[in-house]
Amino acid sequence: MRKKDLCDLCGGELEHKSVDLELHIKKKLLICEGLPAEVCKQCGEKYFDAKVSAKIDEFIKEYQKEKPLRYIPVPVFSGDVVLE
Ligand SMILES: [Zn+2]
Repeated sequence: MRKKDLCDLCGGELEHKSVDLELHIKKKLLICEGLPAEVCKQCGEKYFDAKVSAKIDEFIKEYQKEKPLRYIPVPVFSGDVVLE
């Protein structure tokens, strides 16, 4: 178990925040807005508590049943452009 209120990655302080979560499911990108999380003030790593994590796992299995709030266009770049 991680020590409460400290980031596993950098040891930074965590603060409670509402965050957007990006999910990648079989090459599909989904975004869930306004999830409660602990966010590291230093590196921005997000931590969800067990209850929220379980809900997210459940959502991943059944997200097709839900109606999205909206769709946003996502730009896709070639790795070649990144490596230029
Ligand atoms: Zn951190």
